[in-house]
Amino acid sequence: MAVPKRKTGRMKTHSRRAANNNIKLVQTVACPQCGAQKLPHCVCPNCGTYKGRQVIAVD
Ligand SMILES: [Zn+2]
Repeated sequence: MAVPKRKTGRMKTHSRRAANNNIKLVQTVACPQCGAQKLPHCVCPNCGTYKGRQVIAVD
């Protein structure tokens, strides 16, 4: 089994873990029909339209 030759340094460990600190919030866009925040390129969960067309029934 391969064994590490040297102890992983503090800098190496920290910079590896710091890569997860750059995770950003999911981007949203305003729906052109109702103005609600929705995921881009997805059907609006509020009014059920996509590209100005009713896709899913929403009550
Ligand atoms: Zn909408």
